Amino acid sequence: TMMLDRLSPQAPDALLALIRLHDADPRDDKIDLGVGVYRTEDGNTPVFAAVKAAEQRLVQEQDSKSYLGPEGDMGFVNALMPHIFGADPTMGGRISGMQTPGGTGAVRLALALAQKAGVKRVHMGVPSWPNHAQILADLGLELVPFDHASPDGTANLEAVLDAIVNAGVEDAVLLHGCCHNPTGIDYTADQWEQIAEALAQSGTFPIIDSAYQGLGQGLEADAAGLRSVLAKVPEAFIAYSCDKNFGQYRDRVGAFYILGQDSKALETAFSNANALARACWSMPPDHGGAVVRLILRDPELTAMWMAELDDMRGRMRGVRDALAAAGSAGRIDLTPLGTQNGLFAMLPVTKEEVAQLREGHGIYMAASGRINIAGLTMGNLPKFIAALAAVAH
Ligand code: PMP
Repeated sequence: TMMLDRLSPQAPDALLALIRLHDADPRDDKIDLGVGVYRTEDGNTPVFAAVKAAEQRLVQEQDSKSYLGPEGDMGFVNALMPHIFGADPTMGGRISGMQTPGGTGAVRLALALAQKAGVKRVHMGVPSWPNHAQILADLGLELVPFDHASPDGTANLEAVLDAIVNAGVEDAVLLHGCCHNPTGIDYTADQWEQIAEALAQSGTFPIIDSAYQGLGQGLEADAAGLRSVLAKVPEAFIAYSCDKNFGQYRDRVGAFYILGQDSKALETAFSNANALARACWSMPPDHGGAVVRLILRDPELTAMWMAELDDMRGRMRGVRDALAAAGSAGRIDLTPLGTQNGLFAMLPVTKEEVAQLREGHGIYMAASGRINIAGLTMGNLPKFIAALAAVAH
């Protein structure tokens, strides 16, 4: 037999399949709540004006495309730090970073480095972004799941504290920094404090994935949980994505940061991270990171970016408020969506109901019941709520 015959077909990405179904649907009033990208009231995912301006500058000013190292554009990595870590961005020389191909690259690198340092099991609230489980499986790390949410639509604090307190020395815990994907359910400030305290007491290693800063409650508020953890623990990994909050999805812009005890610990850790990156993607794509660097080093472009981000957040907040104000649709309680954050929410619908919404009403969402809040507008919201009520009675 041929070597390739030894491969068995893998399931295609469910959300990409959903995009094709949606594109083929001739109905004018169809609604796409599938793939996780921001959309305007007109249903578009435009390039940020701040990004366009920085790209123009890049074309004018870039004088070489020669190789950088596996760490990528350190100007980008450092310019981002005050926004993530606050007024003392290195925490006295204890935080440093490197560029990665998207948040996905950062998550991959964080987990691979944790594994290299002896981590065998990773505790994680479920449901989670499906790629978390895929990366863990690909690395051969054991996923130890706990329930992220309680049935009332709030975070299950007991479950995460239990996981942290009972974890062993070969365990890490993977947390979402803000705008939890897929539930939209974030820990409150008080819950983050308790999580930070439990991490400090138990010594369980925290890995924080922050992919949506600025799209929940605002740039500073969305970093508060992460900062309260870092203030208390000796060591942590942070995986960061600029693909949503700078709208650079396809340019793959991310960074990986390490909090360590001192600069010597960081140096050794990054020599390992660089070796892992070198063996995997060699170095990250430059363009998107260079764009973020240009924006963040220019006060005018920074202000422009922040205003655009605020608009996006405000629009999604408006949709959430309108959903919550509607109260319910059939048996579905919509009020928790008002207090949740970011692009996503989970509706307690069955697979059959998801199929009925798609076939009968042209409403496209993941089989899990996850919806992209940014797919909703003041225009299509009444239709969405009516269809949901008709199906989920
Ligand atoms: N983490 C989470 C929780 C995400 O939802 C995503 C994007 N879907 C990522 C990481 C990775 O983002 P990207 O690789 O597109 O930067």
